[in-house]
Amino acid sequence: MKRFTTQSLSALLMLVPMLASGAQQTKTLPQPDERFKVDILLVVAHPDDEGAATPYLARALDEHRRIAVAFGTRGSSGANEAGAEQAAALGDIREIEARNALATLGITNVWFLGGKDTASQNVLQSLANWGHGPWLEQLVRLVRLTRPEVILTFLPGTFIGEDHGDHQASGVLATEAFDLAGDPAVFPEQVAGPTKRLEPFFENLRPWQVKKIYYFPDAEREDIFRGKGPEYSVKDISKSSKQPYWRMALDSFRSHQTQAKSFLDTLSQMDEAQIEKIATSDGGWTDAQHFVLGKSLVGGSASGDIFEGVTPAAIPFARPEFLPEPSRPDLSVELDGPWSYYAEFRRAHGLTHLPHPEPPEIALQAPGMLVIPLWLRNRTAKTQEITLTATLPAGWTAQSGTGKFSVAAKQTAAARLEVNLPGLAENVPKKLEAQEVIVHAESNGQSIGDVKLRVELRKRALPQ
Ligand SMILES: [Zn+2]
Repeated sequence: MKRFTTQSLSALLMLVPMLASGAQQTKTLPQPDERFKVDILLVVAHPDDEGAATPYLARALDEHRRIAVAFGTRGSSGANEAGAEQAAALGDIREIEARNALATLGITNVWFLGGKDTASQNVLQSLANWGHGPWLEQLVRLVRLTRPEVILTFLPGTFIGEDHGDHQASGVLATEAFDLAGDPAVFPEQVAGPTKRLEPFFENLRPWQVKKIYYFPDAEREDIFRGKGPEYSVKDISKSSKQPYWRMALDSFRSHQTQAKSFLDTLSQMDEAQIEKIATSDGGWTDAQHFVLGKSLVGGSASGDIFEGVTPAAIPFARPEFLPEPSRPDLSVELDGPWSYYAEFRRAHGLTHLPHPEPPEIALQAPGMLVIPLWLRNRTAKTQEITLTATLPAGWTAQSGTGKFSVAAKQTAAARLEVNLPGLAENVPKKLEAQEVIVHAESNGQSIGDVKLRVELRKRALPQ
């Protein structure tokens, strides 16, 4: 038997690289992983929040849209209706419940970004508690990885409603990611390619400009959202399952045993007509899902289909138009806190058309306390005295924050008014009409402005 000699083997080995390089052969460079390319990225706060959009997602899946979902937290706070587990262990369970809920629809591209539940209506608390910077970095990475055509998320704004600060935070961060992910100067280490083999730092992603962003409100009012975006009936029948979309959404929701076991047990005692009535009324999805168009970089009308104007080709990065600061008088008073933040947010992201309540509003638990944060601005060259007084509904009392204050020259000072809210009688309806609180600001005997806030008292509400 002829055996390879050392010389023949080395001659063969020399041939290998020659064949591999094959003088004329074209090498294919690695491309982004197509398994993670999506049409829709849904950005929400908690496991079960995806339910706010599942009837539409089921419809989009019928249209062969690819979908990814990003959750801000794992929902590790709150009660457990299905077992004894609490805190981090409950978060473990809720992550699986959310994955199962979405897998029921056929969505497996699901991400958890590691924020912490925040029981408050104040988006600024949620952003602080989640870790705004790292969370944004992760979401920008996820946009670059999944390359969505459209982002769907909660409406960033403060409203009478559940008004969960975490819901608002997901909308704020999704908007920031929409504006930043296409910018190669933002988190540039994510879009840097490896400079040597197995470079452990660079991610080799590409900047990605999302084409549209739509919001769904966490508010109870509907008037200011009407006509601001498309709506989709939840009663339409799915081509794939032959069931109405509300039914597919409900079947998906059944995974959330730790959050809704008692509700789901009640449903199991009902007939189909009763279940439909609940699912398509205010207690469920109502009869249609409403979206509010945030931004479109590809044209289309506000109430047109979510994919109107969207074509497969990538679009260039669009730097958001930034509106200049509004001019202010020399002495002024303004509502601070999330309300003033959202005015800045809308200007910074070219969203001044976004519906928001005027005057601003909030629902609070009574008895309790209303805190009205204020900015007192003095642009003059000397210290000024400003007097604050409040006009309150009957039975409400100002505990602190009224009186005379001095604001140094060229300074903006933070003030706060605290108002005691009376308890509610046993037999009041679940919701009462909102009432108006007015803070008057005067200087040298002249009005420098009023701040108004509509406040609805409830037996239960998230803390301010
Ligand atoms: Zn939620």
